[in-house]
Amino acid sequence: MTDAPYRLSEMTWQEVEEAVERTGTLLLPVGSTEQHGHHLPLGVDVQMPMAIGERIAQRCDALLAPPIWYGVTPHHTFKPGTFTVSTETFQRYVTELCASAGEWGIDSVLLLNGHYLAQDPELEVVVRTLRTEHGMEAFHVPLVNLFADVAEELRESDVSFHASEFETSIMLELFPELVKLDRAEAVDPPAESLPLTDYDALGENKVGWALSASDMDSLTPTGNIGDPTVATAEKGRALVEAAVSDVVTLVEALQ
Ligand SMILES: [Zn+2]
Repeated sequence: MTDAPYRLSEMTWQEVEEAVERTGTLLLPVGSTEQHGHHLPLGVDVQMPMAIGERIAQRCDALLAPPIWYGVTPHHTFKPGTFTVSTETFQRYVTELCASAGEWGIDSVLLLNGHYLAQDPELEVVVRTLRTEHGMEAFHVPLVNLFADVAEELRESDVSFHASEFETSIMLELFPELVKLDRAEAVDPPAESLPLTDYDALGENKVGWALSASDMDSLTPTGNIGDPTVATAEKGRALVEAAVSDVVTLVEALQ
C-alpha cells in the first residue's frame, strides 16, 4: 500500500524523478480499440488492463503509464469502430516507448495485455528486444493467463473466446455502466473449428493460428464468440482479483 502518486499522466516531472528513486517498475496497459459485440464498448481491451493496473499500483510500488489504445487487430475490421495497425508498426512503437522510459529510470516494464491471444506474438518480440537490445527487464503479461485457473473453476459456458463470459464479467465488475447486458447474445462457433485449435480463450490450441476478418464475419453475426449472458460481476471480481494478485507478486519479486 502506498500513498505516493503512481499515475504518470497526472504527475509532474519532479514527482517522476522522485518516484523512480523508489521504484523502477512500469505498468504499461496495452490493448486495442475494436468491436466487442452488441453489448460491450470498443475500449474493453484497454479499459480492463487500465483498471487492473490501477489496482496493482495501489497495492505495490509501480508506476502506471498512460495506455496504448491501438493494436494489431485486422480480424475485427468486419465491424465499424475497429482500428488496426501492422505488426511492424505496433512492435516498433511499443518497443521505442518502453526504451525511452529506460532513459529516465525505468528498468522493468510489464506489458499488461488486454488484447490477449491476438497480439501475444508481437509483445513477445517486444519483450525480447527490450531485454537483448536495451538491457531492460520486460514481461509480457496477457490477462487471460493470469486468471486462467479461476476462469476454469467458475465458467458456465463451453466457449468464451471474444466479448463473452470472461470479458463481460470483468467489465461488469470494473465498468458496469458500459455494459448493455440486455443486448447480449450467445454465439456458438461451429463444433468443428480449425484443425488442432478451438475457439476458446483457454482452449488447447496446438498450433499457431490466426483469424481473418472474413473468418470472423462468417463465425459471428454479433461480433462476440461465446455466451456473454452467463456473465456476472461476481465472476468478474474473482477474475480481476486473480490477475491483480498475480502481478503484485511479480512486481514485489522484482524489488
Ligand atoms: Zn477483447
